[in-house]
Amino acid sequence: MTQEKYYFENPKSSIRSLTEDEIEAAIADYENGVKISEICQKYPKLKVSSFYKQLPYKLNQEKCEYCNNQIYTKVRKNGYGNDLAKLCIYCNHDYTKNCNCEQCFHNTNVALEEKRKELQIVWKNFYTEYYNLNYTLNDISIFDEIYLVLLIQSYKGTFENTLDFSYFKQLRFQVHASSHEYYSVINNLIDRKILIPNIYYFDSYDYIYSSEPSLPTINSTKINWIPNIIKTSGTLLSVSELDKILKERTYSVEDKKILWREVYWSEIKSYIDYQINI
Ligand SMILES: [Zn+2]
Ligand SMILES: [Zn+2]
Repeated sequence: MTQEKYYFENPKSSIRSLTEDEIEAAIADYENGVKISEICQKYPKLKVSSFYKQLPYKLNQEKCEYCNNQIYTKVRKNGYGNDLAKLCIYCNHDYTKNCNCEQCFHNTNVALEEKRKELQIVWKNFYTEYYNLNYTLNDISIFDEIYLVLLIQSYKGTFENTLDFSYFKQLRFQVHASSHEYYSVINNLIDRKILIPNIYYFDSYDYIYSSEPSLPTINSTKINWIPNIIKTSGTLLSVSELDKILKERTYSVEDKKILWREVYWSEIKSYIDYQINI
């Protein structure tokens, strides 16, 4: 199969109208840093706008690592490095990290899947060692339930089924009674491991791989949180599932009595803390 000597990314490139020698000279000029306006003066047919896009890729002896066709190469845009940009026009492989060709897409997915599997194993050990308290819904007090609903309302991440306290962190130095209260509520839920890091956020939290891992706190960056409440053996309730269950839950008279007692204790505790701290 004979391949064309040049590949024009922009099919309407004005450089197409030049002879082969002129094309070579224009590419060489561009490579040598001659100003685009000067190159266009030499060849009046050329258009200045989006000049780089108009420059063709040139057939190279190198074969595509995926489909074995000859690849095309092109000088980099000025200031973007000295190596050549590579492109296979048959499988669209462009040799970059962000390549969207089918094979790269497949490789990325395979690598991602492997990483996820590895992470699951690391996480499982970590979870067993540090977070395996096996909370069930029955272990959570009504007071905690109400706080969880309020936290879910305020801090549910936009895209993920997790709680994201990063916005809270920006506010934490503000003297605001309710923020302060939330801060201690969140800390308390994290301390008791009712809230635990989400596995994929935990991955970016480097301590998991250090020899002496320390558990993330409300102040740890890059961490989003999930409830550590068992759904079925081996799976935890997601934030949305917990939210739904808690909102639909009905409370008996006995439950309400317990709740008021907890509220009362909490108020007394806050009052005592306040008295101690002033
Ligand atoms: Zn290819
Ligand atoms: Zn590719």
